[in-house]
Amino acid sequence: MLRGLNMDRQLLVSSLIEYAGRNHSSTEVIATDSSGVVHRTNWSEVRSRAQQVSAALLDEGISTGDRIATIAWNDHRHLEVYYGITALGSVLHTVNPRLRDQQISWIISHAEDQLVFVDPDFLRLAETIAPETPSVRKWVVLTDELPETSLPNAVAYEEWISKRGSAIRWPLLDEWSAATLCYTSGTTGDPKGVVQSHRSIVLQTWATCTGDGHDVNSSQSILLAVPMFHVNGWAIPFAAAMSGAKLVLPGPDLSAEALVRQIRAEQITFSAGVPTIWLSVVQYLKDTGVDIPSLQRIAVGGSAAPRSLMDTLEDDYGVFVSHVWGMTEMTQGSAGRFTHRVTGLNREEQRRRQAMAGRELYGVELRLVDNNGEDVPRDGFSPGELLARGPWVAGAYFELDDETTHLQDEHGNWLRTGDVATMDTEGYIAIVDRAKDVIKSGGEWISSIELENAAVAAPGIAEAAAVGLRHDRWGERPLLLVVLEPGAEFKPDEIVEAIRPHVASWCLPDAVVEVEEIPHTGTGKINKRLLRDRFSDFSWPQ
Ligand code: AMP
Repeated sequence: MLRGLNMDRQLLVSSLIEYAGRNHSSTEVIATDSSGVVHRTNWSEVRSRAQQVSAALLDEGISTGDRIATIAWNDHRHLEVYYGITALGSVLHTVNPRLRDQQISWIISHAEDQLVFVDPDFLRLAETIAPETPSVRKWVVLTDELPETSLPNAVAYEEWISKRGSAIRWPLLDEWSAATLCYTSGTTGDPKGVVQSHRSIVLQTWATCTGDGHDVNSSQSILLAVPMFHVNGWAIPFAAAMSGAKLVLPGPDLSAEALVRQIRAEQITFSAGVPTIWLSVVQYLKDTGVDIPSLQRIAVGGSAAPRSLMDTLEDDYGVFVSHVWGMTEMTQGSAGRFTHRVTGLNREEQRRRQAMAGRELYGVELRLVDNNGEDVPRDGFSPGELLARGPWVAGAYFELDDETTHLQDEHGNWLRTGDVATMDTEGYIAIVDRAKDVIKSGGEWISSIELENAAVAAPGIAEAAAVGLRHDRWGERPLLLVVLEPGAEFKPDEIVEAIRPHVASWCLPDAVVEVEEIPHTGTGKINKRLLRDRFSDFSWPQ
């Protein structure tokens, strides 16, 4: 082999913050902390405080590969810690505080976290789990002064970093060393740990910055409405540094009112978040008549975004919606922006594609297989299990020996995503359902997502969830649960009629029930398992 004669420079997370600190030093990073105080800082300061974090970790005896947890909202301290941990070679383990206490202590113990950075909002949670997490040597509370706490070995963050200078030089790590650890939500079984290397973070961040990715660039002002504990905030905290964009971190308040206020105040051009966030923003805009002229584009993903959401945002507010699919195992898995070939299509055809979950993105190869592991054609309508592989796709899980998570065949090692999808010849994917949520009626599959999207487009429906319940004749049939908009009247027949034009007649729900609230998982997805349990005794109308 003739080796290339390029320089041996490893792809490291530290290079991102070094770059931003050096070249975009005065570009603002604005954060609201959990006490509501707004902090205005910049990339240069984020870099030097991240260096202080690394220096303090070194003093604590932390070394390469040690896992350090964060239980925190999106704010400047969490961002400093993101870089301070990873740049040193230790592993950033972002914990989702919305999980149950038991699950949190399970994952902290499984990861053997040495230190935990905890937001004061989660102090009670930390106190509850501390006796169950013996690996944790110190709790660093993300605040100026240590509040009253029973936590053993607790220290206030500002005091902890203030003793250290920022003179540290970050080590030249091997790019294959672990940078982040994030556990999947684990609605069934124990959560599974996904370990991303430095190389993988840098590569996926580059993909995020590309034109058909999220087109993150230095002219943007970004509002991060995705929690930094969910899939590394979709790599946006890294992409903002790679491109030198202005970054706004909203803290704990993700209400529509707070988000819209920040969009207007900080002239936000791009934002990202799960569909429920944007549904509430649209409702707020409609109710108040407020406008958001600076916002050009949003990325939506994490669960299926209804077509009606895209129509309203684009037609009424001029906001282009980039609908993407992804998962903890790879962060962004599809590209949601369009090429000129698509923009040339008529509006209806454009929207049809836009409502799909993006298209294959360079770096994540996608493939569909049937129950026997045979390839399913990319014909736009045949469903199959979606498999993925690529340099930033998880090849295995942290300390888990389970052969069922991947499919190994003559084409190599593929991650089984657990999603059922269709794909067309141009690589557009449509997520039919989670394999376990698809409604199996008389040997045919009904997409719960399709029913929900059609339902929320009906007048007066704020949110909808479709679940398959046992049925004597058909095996399973769909039950539709709806939350009404304030003041709307519940008319189940009219809801079914509004859905009828969008789905085959045998897919229509057998019953529609009004509920006050639809439960969500810790990452904002509809909790279908809970709904199936709750309605397990439901009697179908005769
Ligand atoms: P998580 O690892 O928590 O982000 O969950 C990943 C899962 O979210 C995927 O496997 C999908 O089931 C779901 N998901 C993500 N994006 C979409 C999307 N655009 N449409 C439908 N489901 C999605």
